[in-house]
Amino acid sequence: MASDNKPKAVDPAFTKSVVDAGADTVTLCFQCGTCTGSCPSGRVTAFRTRVMMRRVQLGFKDDVLPSDELWLCTTCASCDERCPRGVKITDIIMTLRNMAVREGYMAEAHKNTARSLMKTGHAIPLGDAFRKLRETLGLDGEPPTVLTDKEGLEEIKKIVKATGFDKLVG
Ligand code: SF4
Ligand code: SF4
Repeated sequence: MASDNKPKAVDPAFTKSVVDAGADTVTLCFQCGTCTGSCPSGRVTAFRTRVMMRRVQLGFKDDVLPSDELWLCTTCASCDERCPRGVKITDIIMTLRNMAVREGYMAEAHKNTARSLMKTGHAIPLGDAFRKLRETLGLDGEPPTVLTDKEGLEEIKKIVKATGFDKLVG
């Protein structure tokens, strides 16, 4: 899934497909770099928000959809708040992730989160420490969610199958 620095083929249809998917503000980016300077993920990883926007503008599909960087955004929206061009960066990244998943790319950590959701109804599993903490507060160890509602969990599983989400996750 990792990308390298070798130039890939330009695919103008890719830019159009991103715009058509509702992420049209990507065309407004004028490469000031404010988003990159605001990005907490970029401080500790190779993810560069500005570069991601430019790759989309130029149609570098093969640098975007299979890339590990696409999954390093925490969706904190700091970039959205500061972008002087009103580029909806977080929405664009979510759109790109949706496209990536449809092409068979998804970060393992995100797959695990999705698997937890499909299995338990919760994206984040309830650990023993939280179970014990709840009990010390006089609460049931299991919260009154799908963890204790079998019918609710079955409904989630039906939705997962009906939407094909399980196949996307693999
Ligand atoms: S802050 Fe906005 S205009 Fe500047 S590089 Fe980022 S997306 Fe582009
Ligand atoms: S939303 Fe993503 S890209 Fe934007 S600042 Fe936060 S981590 Fe960086």
